[in-house]
Amino acid sequence: MDRVIYVDNAATTGISAPVLDAMMPYLTSEYGNPMSIHSVGQRARAAVEEARKQTAQALHADHTEIFFTGSGTEADNWAINGVCELMAKKGKKHIVTSSFEHHAVLHTVQKLEKQGWQVTYLPVTPDGYITVESVAQAIRPDTALVTIMYANNEIGTIQPIPEIGRLCKEKGVLFHTDAVQAVGNIHIDVKDQCIDLLSLSGHKIHAPKGVGALYVRRGLVLKPFIEGGAQERGRRGGTENVASIVGLGKAMELAEANIDRRVPRMTALRDRLIDGLLQIERTRLNGGREPRLCFNANISFEGVEGESILIMLDMKGICASSGSACTSGSLDPSHVLLSIGLPHEIAHGSVRFTLGEDMSEEDVDYIIQTTREIIVRLRAMSPLWERINKQ
Ligand code: PLP
Repeated sequence: MDRVIYVDNAATTGISAPVLDAMMPYLTSEYGNPMSIHSVGQRARAAVEEARKQTAQALHADHTEIFFTGSGTEADNWAINGVCELMAKKGKKHIVTSSFEHHAVLHTVQKLEKQGWQVTYLPVTPDGYITVESVAQAIRPDTALVTIMYANNEIGTIQPIPEIGRLCKEKGVLFHTDAVQAVGNIHIDVKDQCIDLLSLSGHKIHAPKGVGALYVRRGLVLKPFIEGGAQERGRRGGTENVASIVGLGKAMELAEANIDRRVPRMTALRDRLIDGLLQIERTRLNGGREPRLCFNANISFEGVEGESILIMLDMKGICASSGSACTSGSLDPSHVLLSIGLPHEIAHGSVRFTLGEDMSEEDVDYIIQTTREIIVRLRAMSPLWERINKQ
């Protein structure tokens, strides 16, 4: 097989043709600075503001509530640090989060913990969910912020965000969600779902890398994240990345427009893959099947190393991942897989397949067949597998 089957779409996606088309003028002839008052500058300004509207519409937000950032990580940092700085003035000193957040959230709250904040890390159920009851129990009179991801980047489980949002609203606590994996795969209505702050990232939805956005509910005024300019209404200084912002706006518009067509098709492919891989003996699906991102299958294969599977899959033209792109390369087992109670040796034998829109059933069948052959070969050489078999 000559074609590369890229099943690492949770790590990043390619820029789609319509997104690139929308960006092209702003990479070439339309190079104005949106802060300039002449016509070239004002055309760039109009393009940035159109992207803001497109992003807002996809979330059912107002365009004045969208702030462009340099990444999803930046949006997470800004949301958490910004809210905590604001709420510290009101005597609040407690954050509620979960133990399987992306490091953009976890490392930010851990830094605040070192500075004296108290943090409750909610446990995750063995199926990969945060319960609304656990959030309710964790909220205290001094809680400044609840931050729970919309969908997990490794195991794809979708959290009960509207319910958590309504609970936080009832309790008068601010609610942030990292929706980097959810955007484009789940209908998001920030008003209806009572979300105060939401982070998203361009490169997960076929826009370029290095652009993201933070939604901040109107009335909530965070301190500027970067000083030094009047861009983003004085909140994030620095000349705007016009072409990438235009790409993000277009990608948001397309993601929302295509969601009802895309999700059932991807879910069927995902289930075909999961069912096929689970036919291999001593395998398990990590995270519940539903509600689950339509493109995510995370499978553990007992008695083998995830890294060895990945290398052999790559040799057969299949690009998958053993965890989040940011932590693969580290030998520690994934904190997400440990959070759902997987023992270290099983966590080490896990592979995340995140499907792309261009894939077919034949591609899925090729992945199943190839993975089966690789697992058989690796297990034949594995002392661990020999031990498991004797048990
Ligand atoms: N949050 C989640 C859930 C993610 O999956 C990622 C990226 O993998 C990020 C945040 C970081 O986004 P970015 O790569 O734009 O910094």
